[in-house]
Amino acid sequence: MARGRPVGHQARLDSSGVSAVPHESAVIVGAGPIGLACAISARRRGFDPLVIDAGAIANSIVRYPVGMVFFTTPERLEIGGHPLVCSGPKATREEALKYYRGVARAEALRVRTYTRLVAAQRSGNRLALELTSRLGPDGLTCDRLVLATGYFDHPNLLGVPGEELPHVSHYFDEAHRSFGLDVVVIGGKNSAVEAALQLFRAGGRVTLIYRGSELPRSVKYWLKPDFENRVKAGEIAARLGATVERITATEVVIRSDGRSESIAADRVYALTGFHADTELFRRVGIAFDSETARPLSDPETLEASVPGVHVAGSVTGGNKISEIFIENGRYDGEKIFGDESSRRTAQQGYAAIQRPPGE
Ligand SMILES: Cc1cc2nc3c(=O)[nH]c(=O)nc-3n(C[C@H](O)[C@H](O)[C@H](O)COP(=O)(O)OP(=O)(O)OC[C@H]3O[C@@H](n4cnc5c(N)ncnc54)[C@H](O)[C@@H]3O)c2cc1C
Repeated sequence: MARGRPVGHQARLDSSGVSAVPHESAVIVGAGPIGLACAISARRRGFDPLVIDAGAIANSIVRYPVGMVFFTTPERLEIGGHPLVCSGPKATREEALKYYRGVARAEALRVRTYTRLVAAQRSGNRLALELTSRLGPDGLTCDRLVLATGYFDHPNLLGVPGEELPHVSHYFDEAHRSFGLDVVVIGGKNSAVEAALQLFRAGGRVTLIYRGSELPRSVKYWLKPDFENRVKAGEIAARLGATVERITATEVVIRSDGRSESIAADRVYALTGFHADTELFRRVGIAFDSETARPLSDPETLEASVPGVHVAGSVTGGNKISEIFIENGRYDGEKIFGDESSRRTAQQGYAAIQRPPGE
């Protein structure tokens, strides 16, 4: 595609010849793996979409724990046919970040980081977008809008007193920070179990608190025995079937079997999952299921209830965040920007995933 003025962008002139709000043929909100894959699908059909992200490129992966290893094998994290080369059998956070910014560069994607979509409104045959960045409010119009906004900015809150204290985090950062400390991990899914194991190995005194009476079956088969053996050996403490009542500066107070217990905590990781931004759905006017928070969309084209607005990637799962991963969401751009034959190919690619996602 020729360089120079991108085909997606035209500065409009008002009646006095003064440049008005810029217009884009397509805007993709979210520069995560799926937003970038959508942009590639659009580029390969002659569009030059603008990708915006409230944070950095691949901002969810930026917020993964330092050194995290993906559970998915690398070929399933690939987008646009670019090979993801990594030093071990699975990619690390750092390799994935390098990969996705390399793909954006190789595909000459226009990515505007640190720019948030606040709202969108249909106005005639265009969509008017309200944006904000560190320079203040901004605006754009576009013909087509894709929300590939994921869920990672919206943790499921416990709703207990003390959750807002500075030593409590909904994001696991780095085990090293907890050497020699009493650490409480709240949650029982993969992220929580993996964090508990890493914290233990980094010298933290770890207690995992989970409301279920046993770990869910979705916990990876290589994590579960490791965790259970650490518990059996008394190296990690576990309180299953327990709920958190409150968090103080020094303790987490739980209730289990009708009794209260206080557990020492210098740091607390509440790893209780995430959900899609339903407030954004409201501000864009798209309909969603009130129970699952899934945006309603045409399964063929992923067009939402507002014409010209599509959804892609993990945001389509609403609060069911264990359904759409990079490996199955990466075909969504083909459904949005492709024709019927591309949609069929996308569907076949999706169906050809033999192993369960994440294996
Ligand atoms: C610890 C951890 C490990 C994981 N491991 C794996 C794995 O091994 N394999 C796998 O396939 N998946 C894994 N996942 C899930 C994976 O991260 C998601 O499936 C993937 O990121 C989804 O991609 P996405 O592009 O749909 O959304 P995201 O990657 O979340 O991207 C959404 C982007 O939208 C931006 N955004 C949100 N709202 C706005 C707004 N209003 N305006 C502008 N920008 C906005 C965000 O900043 C973000 O960059 C893991 C997740 C976690 C937390």
